[in-house]
Amino acid sequence: MAVVNDPETADRPNILFIFSDDHAYQAVGAYGSTINRTPQIDRLAREGMRFDACLVTNSICGPSRATILTGKYSHLNGFYQNGDRFDGSQTTVPKLLQEAGYQTAIFGKWHLETDPTGFDTWHILPGQGAYYNPPMIRNGERVRHEGYTTDIITDLTLDWLKSERDPDRPFLLMAQHKAPHRNWQPGPKYLDAYKDAPVAEPPTLFDDYEGRGTPARTQDMTIRDTLTPNDLKFTTPNNLTDDQLAQWNDAYAEENAEFERLGLSGDDLVRWKYQRYIKDYLRCIDSVDENVGRLLDYLDESGLAENTIVLYASDQGFYLGEHGWFDKRWMYEESLRTPFLVRWPGVVEPGSTSDRLVSNLDFAETFLDVAGVAIPEDMQGRSLVPLLKGETPDDWRSSFYYHYYEFPAEHSVQRHHGVRTDRYKLIHFYSLGEWELYDLLRDPHELRSCYDDPQYADVREELTAELARLRDELAVPDDPRPNDVRRPIETNP
Ligand code: CA
Repeated sequence: MAVVNDPETADRPNILFIFSDDHAYQAVGAYGSTINRTPQIDRLAREGMRFDACLVTNSICGPSRATILTGKYSHLNGFYQNGDRFDGSQTTVPKLLQEAGYQTAIFGKWHLETDPTGFDTWHILPGQGAYYNPPMIRNGERVRHEGYTTDIITDLTLDWLKSERDPDRPFLLMAQHKAPHRNWQPGPKYLDAYKDAPVAEPPTLFDDYEGRGTPARTQDMTIRDTLTPNDLKFTTPNNLTDDQLAQWNDAYAEENAEFERLGLSGDDLVRWKYQRYIKDYLRCIDSVDENVGRLLDYLDESGLAENTIVLYASDQGFYLGEHGWFDKRWMYEESLRTPFLVRWPGVVEPGSTSDRLVSNLDFAETFLDVAGVAIPEDMQGRSLVPLLKGETPDDWRSSFYYHYYEFPAEHSVQRHHGVRTDRYKLIHFYSLGEWELYDLLRDPHELRSCYDDPQYADVREELTAELARLRDELAVPDDPRPNDVRRPIETNP
């Protein structure tokens, strides 16, 4: 099946997929961030297309990755929640591209427990991975690196491009960062960023959850109560070199001493914790952004840019203090939506945007379409190539199905599924028998469910039927996954 060096396919585009972990669209310049700048990532928006409604199937790390590899929802790819083991024998996009003559490689975070399949070269972080001096696994062999992980993943990716890439074949190259995942350890270069002024607070930092049901009130992901001393940098990482440790202490010791003197409590303490959290989060993104720039610069210098489609996405969205939260999981907007930018010279109009409902479910199909490889019928997404060309098929999806399974677990977010359209969102917390409905036009922050509002009776009925229709179309089993005792979710390194 291989079509190596076939002159007819020699100009198939290269695919560079740059992926981060927990990067909220609210912290991307191109999405209108008011709290940070991402000039390198923004190059992809300026030179390509920004998707404004890229929704994930299941807002958590492992399941998102499994969806991207398979083009299928969790109930078909078998990876429902972190800690599951990915079945690497199933059909995946790297395998199909490899068979079609693509060179395939992945560097960085994998988080699917079993070894990667379908990659000529893989060099991954075990589990969640460490921010500093990470142990990694290179094609099955344990290795250790010294330095900051975001830089190292880029170094490895660049080394591959420069010395391992076969110039006669197109490539699928996945550069997947651990950053800016919890516990938000900034790199040495950015430890002192954002020191001069406070970062603006989101308007819902002190949300009282009055307008919603039980789940929002019983979660465990608040800045107020959930952040640990480790998250807040009151403890020092134990895997730093002496030089790194000195830089770390220079960055935090003085502020920590000041914090002790202040003796804050109540809302003032929440505000302080928010500042510590958001600044570290943004510092991690500063490194990601710089490293995106390094890859783009190399594509330019090497002449590869012209025939390489570059995609930037995160595995889901994230809360930057909205509703008083950090983390993800919910079908609420901040975690459901992920940033997604695509540059494809000669195909995508520079500076264009799309507000169509797209998803990480569509990435596999898109990669295959870009490469001219047939899309298996059992994949559940759709190629984005028409949208990238500025066309919208008449039958493009007008509703999207979501399903989150990881409960009981860290952060105590109840299982739920639901449907989102351009304007509305219906959520069913089925273990509790609770429903919520939001009108995103009138209530963009999702502060008040209108499920019981008689004015929305028709919408409620329509979306309830649509949810059933989607479940049927997507072959979602009637019985949601039974509660099972799994190993505890791994703690953050
Ligand atoms: Ca994630």
